[in-house]
Amino acid sequence: MPNGILVFVEHRQGAINKTSFEAVAAAQALGAALGQEVSAVVLGADAGFAHEIAGYKLSRVISAENPKLAEYTPDAYTDAMEQVVRATTPQYVVMPHTYLVRDYAPKLAARFGKGLISDCIRMKAEGSSVTFTRRIFLGKMDADVVAKGEPPVFVTFQSGAYRGEQAERGEGASVEPMQVEVGEVRMRPEAPFQEVKQAVDLSKADVIVAVGRGIKSQENIALAEKLAEVLGGDIAASRPICDAGWLPIDRQIGSSGQTVAPKLYVALGISGAIQHLVGMKNSSTIVAVNKDPEAPIFDIADYGIVGDLFEVVPVLTEELKKLKG
Ligand SMILES: Cc1cc2nc3c(=O)[nH]c(=O)nc-3n(C[C@H](O)[C@H](O)[C@H](O)COP(=O)(O)OP(=O)(O)OC[C@H]3O[C@@H](n4cnc5c(N)ncnc54)[C@H](O)[C@@H]3O)c2cc1C
Repeated sequence: MPNGILVFVEHRQGAINKTSFEAVAAAQALGAALGQEVSAVVLGADAGFAHEIAGYKLSRVISAENPKLAEYTPDAYTDAMEQVVRATTPQYVVMPHTYLVRDYAPKLAARFGKGLISDCIRMKAEGSSVTFTRRIFLGKMDADVVAKGEPPVFVTFQSGAYRGEQAERGEGASVEPMQVEVGEVRMRPEAPFQEVKQAVDLSKADVIVAVGRGIKSQENIALAEKLAEVLGGDIAASRPICDAGWLPIDRQIGSSGQTVAPKLYVALGISGAIQHLVGMKNSSTIVAVNKDPEAPIFDIADYGIVGDLFEVVPVLTEELKKLKG
């Protein structure tokens, strides 16, 4: 009888990636809701990364090993994961929604005759039934998905859907090496894909100050930059600002930009369109400044200032400077 949650932990370029810890947090939440154990699986030529993830609250870490897994290829990863899933018979296989997972996970699911519930933003367990929610039509609608039929259920979570630091640490899970067979590998990996050369990775920022159309001109962005500076944060923007070329595209937050979850997100003159919200709604604390009290950004803001940003921001910056001495 299939049981348990298996979470796939991805590593690239010598490190476990951030979204893998988010996937661990998601898997732990699912395990707690269903009263099932959570195991992790790490693929590689050796057990190096398995020991790193064993510090989390997991029942065990499976280190699927084969020299052909030293570098990522969809053929090798699919072969290895198929064997691990068949050997461990989990009910759910949880994965981060990364480029790598997007590449091989549909093929893995197809080997089991299953679909992939991809890019989920949340889930809800009622009894033994789990509803996964994913955004459709460019974030305009949410679809609730319940898997029917026999396990395993393959699911991926959007970056930011869970917080990596919420992944619970544990006593030290046992690492179980598993030698896996890998068949023919038909592709040769090239250097990993980089989204934009020297792109700013806002997903790692603790503080983000984002500007929207309310900033009115490119010159006025300096105002927000000063605030970002005292807060030790990064500058970001809504789409119209990047479309206008006032800030580079790698500063855009939203459905066609970056997804972020900083500790503090300050939204200046941003209305709160759904395409923007999907990129930042998981921030720990959201502060919005907008002169329109009905602006939808206030629906998700923890602190809202109804006012003219050109009056509010200089005062805020000065007061913060004073606080910092
Ligand atoms: C396919 C698609 C993808 C998209 N992807 C993205 C995306 O990734 N990211 C994104 O952000 N958008 C995206 N959009 C665009 C999105 O729908 C909105 O148009 C956009 O987010 C609005 O940006 P904004 O809030 O800066 O501007 P507006 O909606 O024009 O809002 C400006 C706000 O500033 C306030 N304001 C004006 N003056 C002041 C002042 N002096 N002081 C304080 N407040 C003031 C106004 O009250 C208003 O609420 C996408 C749209 C589509 C169709």
